[in-house]
Amino acid sequence: MSDNHSSGGGAGVNTRLAHIGHDPRDFHGFVNPPVVHGSTVLFPDTATMEARSQKYTYGTRATPTTDALCRAFDELEGSAGTVLVPSGLAAISIPFLAYLSAGDHALIVDSVYTPCRNFCNTMLRRLGVAVDYYDPEIGAGIEALIKPNTRLVHTEAPGSNTFEMQDIRAISEVAHRHGCVVTMDNTWATPLYFRPLDFGVDVSIHATTKYPSGHSDIVMGSVSANAKHWPKLEETRIAMGICGAPDDSYQILRGLRTMGIRLEHHQRSALEIAQWLEGHDGVARVLHPALPSFPGHEIWKRDFKGSSGVFSMVLKTDSANARARTHAFLDALTYFGLGYSWGGFESLAVAVNLSDRTIRKGPDDGVLIRLQIGLEDVADLKKDLEAGFAAAAAA
Ligand SMILES: *Cc1c(COP(=O)(O)O)cnc(C)c1O
Repeated sequence: MSDNHSSGGGAGVNTRLAHIGHDPRDFHGFVNPPVVHGSTVLFPDTATMEARSQKYTYGTRATPTTDALCRAFDELEGSAGTVLVPSGLAAISIPFLAYLSAGDHALIVDSVYTPCRNFCNTMLRRLGVAVDYYDPEIGAGIEALIKPNTRLVHTEAPGSNTFEMQDIRAISEVAHRHGCVVTMDNTWATPLYFRPLDFGVDVSIHATTKYPSGHSDIVMGSVSANAKHWPKLEETRIAMGICGAPDDSYQILRGLRTMGIRLEHHQRSALEIAQWLEGHDGVARVLHPALPSFPGHEIWKRDFKGSSGVFSMVLKTDSANARARTHAFLDALTYFGLGYSWGGFESLAVAVNLSDRTIRKGPDDGVLIRLQIGLEDVADLKKDLEAGFAAAAAA
């Protein structure tokens, strides 16, 4: 199967995941690309060197390994070009530095990934960029917040930890009318369940640390831009000297091959557990966009093709016992690990602190707990959570 087959023809998503990126004929028929460790690339003669007229010129620019991963992302996102960066957070900060200058204004969704807020409030402001946060459910109403110097609108749907949905098409339309670039952190849905560029977004961002890696062993990010915004992104990457590591790039490409079937499993298990938790005495609310009870559900149903394995619940507590109950719940879990990140094969649970939010504050009916549902068997995970609820009730 060649690259020609992979790049269209309406093939199913798992078929495409099995064949994108690398054409086996480019490397003696091996189905995977080589892991190329390299800085220097030799030129056959001075004329070629002067003209830089060969495919690879230096290790920071591209290698057959990083190329394969970038091509895979371009295929999945429908983008003109993709850059690889050393973390998901860098996949946010690099495009912000590409598209913003001193004197500009940026609009950032209030439910954004928290370290993004830190980057905006510290470095962007120090560089003379004004930042405002907006309500994730603002939709076309974002027009009222756009100033003459607004250059970038950053979206993330669903929102980190609280899962608010955004009307991405409506926001993109308004932003474009005012000459803004629209960026979206698409980590939760992956390009399999949402394709931002099809909804007007210019730049799609991923923490490939999460589902593309799938095994909690890599930190990496990707940024995929449409044709209009690709040159500036590439120029910035080169100016800053950022490049994807060969072994990590290889492993992310490897992860993509199974991402479709892993996501189906995450999706099914997470939904089953979310529905079960909704009826549980120890739970005040479940925050999962695929639940009909969730406020953003209609947008999710209209725009997204699926849901992944991360959602939150509000553990019933009152102000007197909140801390003790939360600790008892989390410490009683055995399969659910206590740790950051998600997208790996193993389940995780973490209490979420939303104290830095300015608009969408934390719940007042209990403590917000984010769950990542891994690939374990649902019956075992439910048993684990039951033990947590029992410990919380006894605390
Ligand atoms: C985890 C995460 C990131 C950052 O990824 P790292 O590789 O951990 O830096 C960015 N955005 C979202 C939505 C995330 O969940």
